[in-house]
Amino acid sequence: MQWLLVIGLIALVYFFFIKKKPLSQGSRPHHKKDKNRGDEMVACEKCGTYISLNEALIKDGKYFCSPECMKA
Ligand SMILES: [Zn+2]
Repeated sequence: MQWLLVIGLIALVYFFFIKKKPLSQGSRPHHKKDKNRGDEMVACEKCGTYISLNEALIKDGKYFCSPECMKA
């Protein structure tokens, strides 16, 4: 009965690695794909917090994590 669990676990880990590797290694071969921009991390100009690009607030070409940081 235990080997079923082991095989299931290995399959799960295997699945995770296969799914994650192509994403992290080949996510941006070119800059043409705008859909991938949300995966990029940028640092807040004010406090240095890292946020994903699609959550970041942009002002004068600089990135901010929150309206508070943008004001200051
Ligand atoms: Zn900030």
